[in-house]
Parts: sequence; C-alpha cells; structure tokens
Amino acid sequence: MNSDKILIVEDVRFFSNLIKDKITSEFGYECTIANNFQEAKNILTSQEEPFMLAVLDLHLPDAPHGEIVEYVSSKKIPSIVATALINDNVRDQIMTHNVLDYIIKEGKVSLDQLTETIRRFVRNNKISILVVDDSGVQRMQTRRILEKQNFSVFEAANGQEALDLIKDNNTIRLVITDYNMPVMDGFEFVSQLRNQIKMDELAVIGLSAVGNPVLSAKFLKKGANDFVTKPYHEEEFIWRINQNIEILDNILKLKEAVIKDHLTGLHNRRHFFSAGTSLFENAKRKNIHIAIAMLDIDHFKNINDTYGHDVGDQVLKHLSQTLKSSFRASDIVARYGGEEFIIMTVNMAPEKYPDHFENLRKKIEETPLTTAGEEITFTSSIGVTTQQASSLEKMIKEADTLLYQAKNSGRNRVLIQ
Ligand code: GH3
Ligand code: MG
Ligand code: MG
Repeated sequence: MNSDKILIVEDVRFFSNLIKDKITSEFGYECTIANNFQEAKNILTSQEEPFMLAVLDLHLPDAPHGEIVEYVSSKKIPSIVATALINDNVRDQIMTHNVLDYIIKEGKVSLDQLTETIRRFVRNNKISILVVDDSGVQRMQTRRILEKQNFSVFEAANGQEALDLIKDNNTIRLVITDYNMPVMDGFEFVSQLRNQIKMDELAVIGLSAVGNPVLSAKFLKKGANDFVTKPYHEEEFIWRINQNIEILDNILKLKEAVIKDHLTGLHNRRHFFSAGTSLFENAKRKNIHIAIAMLDIDHFKNINDTYGHDVGDQVLKHLSQTLKSSFRASDIVARYGGEEFIIMTVNMAPEKYPDHFENLRKKIEETPLTTAGEEITFTSSIGVTTQQASSLEKMIKEADTLLYQAKNSGRNRVLIQ
C-alpha cells in the first residue's frame, strides 16, 4: 500500500474527468482512467506498480452487470463503486467483494463523499483495531471487514490477552469486544481497561446480542463508548467504527489546539508553564541541567511596516521552523507572545551552551524568508540563563534580563550566563 495511484474505470468522460480532478486537487494522487472493461483489463495486466485504490462504474458498455467489481477485487485492489442507481440486492452483492463503499453519482455531494472515503482509507492505514472474541470464526469475519477498510487488526481470545496486547501496542485506538469469553469476560475487561486508559484515548465498542438490551447498557456503564448488536450489518458496523475514530480524532485536535500556538504550530505560553514547571521540578530532583533561553526578533516592527502584517506572520512561521529543528523533542520550544520565543533545554551538556545558541543566532541570520521573489533577512537577540535557580519564574526573569541587555548592546547577539 505504498502506491498512491488510483484507477478510475468510467465510460462517461465527464464523470471520469470530474472524479480525477477532484482526487488530484484534494490529494495530489496520480489517476489513470480506463474508459471500459477491456481498457481496465489491459492496464491491470500491464501495470507493474500496483494501484492503491480503484473507483469503479458499475455499468460499463462492455460489462453492464458490474463485472468490473469482481475483476478488480480479484487483483487485490480495494475499490469504491460509483453508480447512478443501486438497489439492496446489488449493494449486498458488490459488498461481498473488496469494496469499501459505494457512492451515488449525483453531483458535488457524492464527490465529497468519495474524497471522504479515500481520506478515511488512507488514515486507517495508521490505525490498529483489536478484536476480542473467543470465537476464532467470529474474529476472522471481523478481521476481514476491518482489513478491507485498511485497518491493521490485532486479535485476542479473552480480556486478559486483550489487556496485555494493548499494553504493548500504542497504535491500537479502538477495541471491539464480545461479552461472553473464558478467563475474563467483556465487562471485566472494559472495567479493568478503563482503570488504565480513558474513553477519549481508546474507544471500545461492545458486542451485544439481539434481544438482550441489558448487555448494551452494561457495556456502556462499564466504560464502552458504543455498542453494536450481533449479527450486525457490515455497513452499520463500519460507520460506528468510523464515527468513534472521528470522535477520538476531534478530541485529539482540541487537545492540540489548547497547547499549541495556532500561527506557528509551536507550543503556546500556557503549555510552556504547565509542562515546563513539571520538567523543572523533575530536573531539580534528579540533578538534570536545564537552561532557559528567551529569543526576540530584532526590529520586527520594521518588517511589518515594510512588507505588511502577512509577511510578518510568515517570518514568525519561518523562524519557528528553524527553532523546532534546532532543539530536541525533549526540550520545550514555545511562542511566548508576539515575536518573542522561549526555550527550555533539558540535559544539554553545559559546555555546549555557547556554541549551540551562537549557532542558532547565525542560522537565523543566514536563513532568510523567501516570499514573492524577495529575500527577507532578519536577526534575533537571545538571552540564556544556565544558572539553576530555585524556581522556573526566576530563571525566566534572568533570561529576560539577559535578552534586554543583548538588545541594548546592539542586537543580533547572544548573552549567556
Ligand atoms: P526590538 O528589536 O526592540 O525587539 O524591536 P521590535 O520592532 O521587534 O519590537 P516591538 O516590540 O517594538 O514590536 C513588535 C511588533 O511585533 C509589534 C507587533 O505589532 C508585532 N507583532 C506581534 N505579534 C505579531 C503577529 O502575530 N504577527 C505580526 N505580523 N506581527 C506581530
Ligand atoms: Mg523584537
Ligand atoms: Mg518584542
């Protein structure tokens, strides 16, 4: 699934071009169009590099009964079926093949649905789902449905196995669990899981049986996010899974928004203080050396005045990239406000400080922003304190004083103490 090529089989040029344009503008994937069944066969027998996905018209002049779906499926290429018209029988029949979804060709809405399905398919490649069921047959059936949607699948035969697997695999974002299992049943499993991982970090869907609504209620009470009644319909099952993953994604985005600066993508001031304080306390306890640097762009007001506020914003983003690439993931780089940034380095060897920050200053000066054919060079002043103080606030104050002195002694320089 490393390919990002998409095959479109559609006899109406208008539709095939519409689909191709939409996919290219939305994802930049390379699209190959076949105008009929024969052309599709020729392409698929000669093609060396596999297609990631196919978008198939159900009714082609030389294959009027959906033959293309089975053919493409036999080539192990997942597909999305686009059709003018569909009934329940046809739908059930095509869904037995390697078909992710079907869309009804009726303008903009269906094109949006198509890109949504593709987006999900690509996203699912990074997501693992754990299926917990003592029945091997049931696990196999669920695995088949999930793999079709491009999820990676783990299996466990009981709650205890499931807990062990989750501990070792942080790609697992959703668990589907049966109730009746030996060793540890579904309820006990969900209860124990919820002692370790919250509902907004890992979703659980409980499987309950028709005619036993108490099972569903109990699953929810124990901490499941949702339930599905067995025997389930494939489409409903997939939609429930998608919705639960989307909720997790949205929560993750909200959490990110709270700790990040929206312009530069760096951490914000609030996060600096909350994460910084615990790092500081931890460092103090363990005798780990930390430093605090304050950095401010020189004469930034001139850049705004000369080139406009938008270019000023671009300079801030550009500098942020330089900052991010100059420190380790275990350090904190944050936008303190306006054109001022703060950095906490953790466990850098003290003799490295002067070179490290002097190199950063140089790098900023030597990495101008290029925009609309213009090179905008800018410099920065940096104050760095490496003296371990009794509080984070004291260190920040010290770094700020050094920054002020760097500004007053001519700018574009580093003062370290
Ligand atoms: P100095 O060398 O003394 O630091 O001079 P300076 O011009 O960089 O500092 P000053 O504090 O006088 O001006 C900072 C300017 O930064 C003023 C403010 O409008 C601008 N600014 C603050 N936040 C943003 C932002 O998000 N985007 C843009 N484009 N400008 C911003
Ligand atoms: Mg400034
Ligand atoms: Mg300033």
